[in-house]
Amino acid sequence: MDWLTPDHFTTQFLAGHGNFRYKLASLKLVDSAMCECGEIETCEHVLNECPRYQEEKEKAIRNLQEDHLVMSSMIATRQGFEIFRDVCREILTKKEEEDRRKIRNPE
Ligand SMILES: [Zn+2]
Repeated sequence: MDWLTPDHFTTQFLAGHGNFRYKLASLKLVDSAMCECGEIETCEHVLNECPRYQEEKEKAIRNLQEDHLVMSSMIATRQGFEIFRDVCREILTKKEEEDRRKIRNPE
């Protein structure tokens, strides 16, 4: 499993305590644990449920030829891990951009 090399993005999902509001709120770093879509923003929510990242997830699901994203099965193979790594990077890059935009332009 020498190909399983976590990076900045995959670590946030693998460890389950990345830059997600549920975690940040528990540390009192943000006021609300809610995602923009109205659900609690956990790692599982972002990877499996959140409609904000549907496009990124659908691409990964197509590449994996699966019905949905399951982290444990994705990281079980080299090819799966590469898809997992890409979708983690795409989701978190988009999320970081949106979060930054929101800080600059609060409603
Ligand atoms: Zn959401």
